[in-house]
Amino acid sequence: MARKVVIVGAGMVGASYAYSMVNQNIADDIVMIDLNNDLASAHAQDMSDGNVFLPNSMRIRSGDYSECADADIVCITAGAIQKEGQTRLDLAVVNAKITKNIVNQVMETKFNGILLIAINPVDVMTYVAQKVSSLDKRHVIGSGTNLDSARLKKNIANYLNINSQSVHAMIIGEHGDSSLAVWSSALVGPKPMLEYIAERKDVTVQGLEECYTNARDAAYKIIENKGSTYFGIGLSLAKITSDILTDQDRVLPLSVSVDGMYNLNDMYISLPAIVGNDGIKEVLSLNLSDEEYMKLINSANMISETIDLIKSEGVLD
Ligand code: NAD
Repeated sequence: MARKVVIVGAGMVGASYAYSMVNQNIADDIVMIDLNNDLASAHAQDMSDGNVFLPNSMRIRSGDYSECADADIVCITAGAIQKEGQTRLDLAVVNAKITKNIVNQVMETKFNGILLIAINPVDVMTYVAQKVSSLDKRHVIGSGTNLDSARLKKNIANYLNINSQSVHAMIIGEHGDSSLAVWSSALVGPKPMLEYIAERKDVTVQGLEECYTNARDAAYKIIENKGSTYFGIGLSLAKITSDILTDQDRVLPLSVSVDGMYNLNDMYISLPAIVGNDGIKEVLSLNLSDEEYMKLINSANMISETIDLIKSEGVLD
């Protein structure tokens, strides 16, 4: 069966995501939808022009919402972007309206696959998408802190001079300023990271914290210099898509629904989760330190406040 992915939003993120999938042979059929159909068509044509250079030929084209009916994954990358000085939460109301509008059109086709959300603030938009779609919560997933965690691993790998594949560390919570790095369960190979840091003379816990703050603030620096971020999130979405389509059951930090875990309810927040072709199989509960737990609760409060804001604007009941 052809692996079909529909991307709603053919801007920088949507195009980077499509291009990452094309280069990694992740899907057989990619459809791009955008309010600006000329842009979606131009991206699709530009990418399909390279078909002859690919190991396997694939279809990439623009289309309309009817394409969602038999899609395995619909990924929403349409929305307003963060401007310089603006936080992801500032975007909430405008992007919630866009999300609602798009999800309604997707669901009119009787779409029954996995809904993957990338627009910011992503934890809140994933919540909106689930409420509007009424899809099973396991089938509505946000890209969450997958990219933040990749940035963290890269920074730690450079700091410790160790291959990033041997760095096991995650950022959880809101994909935004209130996120946190979970040092209590971070590992270097099989060794607890804090133990390893304590043994090395040339590195410090403060240096490790800087790896986190640099990961957390990376988007601001990129936006300052080139207006927006897109290659990293394109690769992150491609990885999530690949893990779903090939049923990898891999643990990724994604924006997932919590119902009671850490006493959190009725929200999406980024946590480590096992993801496969039926969506989220399981959310892993971590043995957080007291400080980490307090930070997670603070982060969850930020998300709840934004959900309340959206509700007060009448976007959700
Ligand atoms: P962009 O401005 O380049 O593209 C957005 C596209 O959405 C435009 O082509 C626009 O025409 C389209 N669009 C807007 N409303 C639409 C609608 N109702 N229906 C169909 N298409 C519509 O922006 P971008 O750089 O691609 O960013 C898109 C989103 O991704 C933003 O919300 C941004 O904050 C988010 N983002 C998320 C992450 C992450 O880690 N989750 C990273 C980077 C960007």
